[in-house]
Amino acid sequence: MSTKVPTETPLRMEPPISPGAEPFWEATRECRLVLPWCLACERPFFYPREVCPLCLGTAIAWRPATGTGVVYSFTIENRPPPAAFSMGKPYVVALVELDEGVRLMGNIVGCPLEKTEVGMPVSVTWEALSDGRHLPLFEPRREENAL
Ligand SMILES: [Zn+2]
Repeated sequence: MSTKVPTETPLRMEPPISPGAEPFWEATRECRLVLPWCLACERPFFYPREVCPLCLGTAIAWRPATGTGVVYSFTIENRPPPAAFSMGKPYVVALVELDEGVRLMGNIVGCPLEKTEVGMPVSVTWEALSDGRHLPLFEPRREENAL
């Protein structure tokens, strides 16, 4: 029997892996952002699933994403839920439209809340999860990174 208290508590609730999303999460172990592409209609889609939402095709390939895009819309959560969900501070949840044309939900970091705006260029950054995966977040794109 052990009375040891865990010393490492995850800072946030970690996302489950939904069916069809395994390759997405595997790539995050190496901080790589990949998107599912439908081989029938040659279009990317998101969120990951086993059937193309555009044409119902089931042949899917995972391809690297640029990791850059713009803020499509966002909300500032000023009254955050308990720390497990939010790290206890106000934060921004944004819908980011990637250069590939798909939209991902993610937190915006590295930017004052009040400076976040629609159309802001962002690039992906990563937060380590306790199981070796990484959570994609977005930060403002700096000019030197905007190539
Ligand atoms: Zn398709």
